[in-house]
Amino acid sequence: MKAEIIAVGTELLLGQIVNTNAQFISQQCAALGVNVYFQTVVGDNEERLQQAFAHAKERADLIICTGGLGPTQDDLTKDVLAAFTGRKLIMHEPSLDKIKELFSNRNMPIAESSARQALMLEGSDPLANDAGLAVGVALEHDGTFFMLLPGPPREMKTMFEHYGKDWIAGISRDSDPLYSKMLKFAGIGESAVEKELLDLIEVQSDPTIAPYAKEGEVTIRLTTRAKSPDEAIQRLSPVEEEIRSRLSAYLYADEDKPIEEIISQQLIEHGKTLAVAESCTGGLISEMLTCAPEGSKMFKGGVVCYTNYVKHKLLAIPMEQLEGDGAPGAVSIQTAESLAANTLEIFDCDYSLAVTGVAGPGTMEGKPVGLVYIGIGERGKPVEVIEGRYSGNRDQVKLKVAKTAFYHLWKRLNG
Ligand code: ATP
Ligand code: MG
Repeated sequence: MKAEIIAVGTELLLGQIVNTNAQFISQQCAALGVNVYFQTVVGDNEERLQQAFAHAKERADLIICTGGLGPTQDDLTKDVLAAFTGRKLIMHEPSLDKIKELFSNRNMPIAESSARQALMLEGSDPLANDAGLAVGVALEHDGTFFMLLPGPPREMKTMFEHYGKDWIAGISRDSDPLYSKMLKFAGIGESAVEKELLDLIEVQSDPTIAPYAKEGEVTIRLTTRAKSPDEAIQRLSPVEEEIRSRLSAYLYADEDKPIEEIISQQLIEHGKTLAVAESCTGGLISEMLTCAPEGSKMFKGGVVCYTNYVKHKLLAIPMEQLEGDGAPGAVSIQTAESLAANTLEIFDCDYSLAVTGVAGPGTMEGKPVGLVYIGIGERGKPVEVIEGRYSGNRDQVKLKVAKTAFYHLWKRLNG
């Protein structure tokens, strides 16, 4: 079964809101074994919505619409589908009763526009709205299935989960669901991963192998269609093993989790603690660590030592090391090393991360933009310093540096 998602709303086209509904519906369709081939966005415009239905009908068996079921003038989806299919709009009495009740509870007469939310198409199945007022629509017309869901994400999700899912499962019984496995890599770029796996990717058919990069990490998604989870595992495992054997040095998780969460879990398991000293990442590493569940069990704290004053005053780096003729400077192997060592000591913890570098746009101490030193401290061991050159804007450099620091710490914990 081929599906198309049509999100209706001028706000989407203007970029005022993000089309999270399409993401949710796509994920749900994948889990149900329904292939989504197109996602369309169209404004609150009768003619263009008609065109969108016409295009979608050519190329999809199932058309799932979200948005435009509300009471206002610009909510047109049901009217347009009614015109498109030549069906009448009829009142869904239970939904109308619910709207009437709401108005009578407020001692108000029911507005005609509000009653519109209880309309459905002749010959369609109603999809009850357990989180709002507008009733949804499920319809087969001329060999095509249509589903109309509300726009507000909470209402849309509730309706889909309570009623939409079963309806789709009923009409698409013949195809098996999709199963996916995520493999997560750090310390390696997307193209390097792709190069290592090129021969596998080129001949892939089942499972499919899809690498993609996001926020300083690389993900490979293996997907297959199967009747049961066991059957899926049988098909996915050999490919997963082959990938593992080639890239084990970078593979930090076989589920969709960020590396800082894996590190956090491992530190908690071993009863170890971590503290950080961050110059050019400006607190990002701390922020990411505190997003990890139960982070407080392993993360002791950190210092944003953005200036030499703070490096000196709070982290006891000698001023002579930071400034003056012949000094190594703030961005140096020596300073990364001292920051990591002093952080370990001052916070009395088992591991430390220290970052100092030039995030740009200008150079610093005559050192180039993107030059960053990462120090990894461990109780009772010498500090390891990793030098790196990073490109991109400030946000990108900060994120890459943070992820690289986590990668080296992960290697240390798993080495
Ligand atoms: P309402 O009764 O609120 O008018 P509706 O079914 O008519 O509901 P819309 O008017 O299209 O839906 O959208 C209502 C709100 O829902 C939008 O302002 C927006 O906040 C959210 N929304 C709509 N479509 C999407 C979407 N595709 N992704 C994420 N949010 C959305
Ligand atoms: Mg609306």
